[in-house]
Amino acid sequence: SGVRENLSYEQFGVAVRELAQSIADDGYQPDVVLSIARGGVFVAGGLAYALDCKNIHLVNVEFYTGVGTTLEMPVMLAPVPNAIDFTDKKVLIADDVADTGKTLKLVRDFCLDAVAEVRSAVVYEKSQSLVKCEYVWKRTDEWINFPWSVQPPVVRRDGQVLDA
Ligand code: 5GP
Repeated sequence: SGVRENLSYEQFGVAVRELAQSIADDGYQPDVVLSIARGGVFVAGGLAYALDCKNIHLVNVEFYTGVGTTLEMPVMLAPVPNAIDFTDKKVLIADDVADTGKTLKLVRDFCLDAVAEVRSAVVYEKSQSLVKCEYVWKRTDEWINFPWSVQPPVVRRDGQVLDA
């Protein structure tokens, strides 16, 4: 279907505060927020401020190549974070959406051995997700347009091609 869930930057601001509130109300105080780039970076920044957590890490995962088209499996791209940094820490994994859940599962499994506790927070979770996140702002099964990726990359106004 052509139906889309559209999230604006303004709605995202509300969503990330509400998501943080549910985490605080639950009594979870993460030592580190681990963001899944690139979409999870926005979520992680908002959550880290709202939860007063000054320790943000980042992992790059590649999976989607287009709307609904994926690689066979998600892969962590270098540099992979050092699991030692998470030893005995309470980790909050932050991402924009758990769709198949494969990306979150990859990152969660990577953390599980080392950390004291790992929980996941997402703005959206789809019903098919194989990881059930502890913290979800909204459930949908539509393709989501996020404000940071709904528009194509900028091009130079003089028509010169970037990187040329
Ligand atoms: P998963 O591994 O859960 O299938 O997908 C995780 C990643 O795929 C998300 O972090 C996001 O970057 C991308 N993705 C999955 N579903 C959607 C969607 O509905 N809209 C957008 N814009 N990206 C999506």
